[in-house]
Amino acid sequence: MSHKIENMNNQAPTPEKHDNHQEQFDAAWQKSSENFLVKGLKAGKKIEDLLTEMPGFKEAFSADSLLDHPDCCLECSDGRVVTSGVKVALAGEGILLGEADRKIFEDAIRGKNLPITGHEGCGAAGMAHPGPDSDSYGYEGAKKTAADTGNRYQEVYHESFRSQVHDERSLVIEGTLRFNCAGWSEFPPQFISSSAALGLSDAYIETEAKALTGIALGDHGLGERFNAENPFYLIVSAVDQDQLNRLMTISESAVKDFGDRVKVTGFIAPESTK
Ligand SMILES: [Zn+2]
Repeated sequence: MSHKIENMNNQAPTPEKHDNHQEQFDAAWQKSSENFLVKGLKAGKKIEDLLTEMPGFKEAFSADSLLDHPDCCLECSDGRVVTSGVKVALAGEGILLGEADRKIFEDAIRGKNLPITGHEGCGAAGMAHPGPDSDSYGYEGAKKTAADTGNRYQEVYHESFRSQVHDERSLVIEGTLRFNCAGWSEFPPQFISSSAALGLSDAYIETEAKALTGIALGDHGLGERFNAENPFYLIVSAVDQDQLNRLMTISESAVKDFGDRVKVTGFIAPESTK
């Protein structure tokens, strides 16, 4: 698994495909640089203080598992893919899972009647199966997961994406299964990894966090715009102090190779208001 991810990150850039996106990248960067949380973190403020000042913070947490929310979709971690506005996510809808983690994942979502969305231009599918047919490989994987777990399959194309470019400023390492950051408009554009919330292994959480951070910092994401002054943020959303400590440690290990272009932070989730 990990060598495939290395290959993906070492792929040559494709400037002819991305040059016409530079304006969109610049606009996305500018817009998210004005985000309250991004600005506050840059100014060195504490994340828990910033979040409690932001409208909708408590409401972004459901009372129960998002998997039981009637609008919940199981989607790729990719921040461009937000189909219903209620999202639980793994990279490539779980395409990078090993056998043991796949069993845990499938048991967690079995019989929930969730749409599981395969999507166009999936970076995780490209890691699992590099080449021109990576998307169809990804679609087949999501289709199989849906069939094996009693869920529904749905396909999502570029025209339905929330953003046409990878505009993610953060990766949410979600440990609560209650935080719907994708449906909270005040939150900066984000990748979501629900791996911790679904009970997957520390090794998988780390592998996925590294892969998604690599997309953000690479040629397909906001890339070179991230630096020590304007880092990409891994944001841990935890149920309690023990989980926060554990997920912060895993996250730090996942991004150590990216140096000061990435910062890890986190908070303990509020109780539900409902
Ligand atoms: Zn994807």
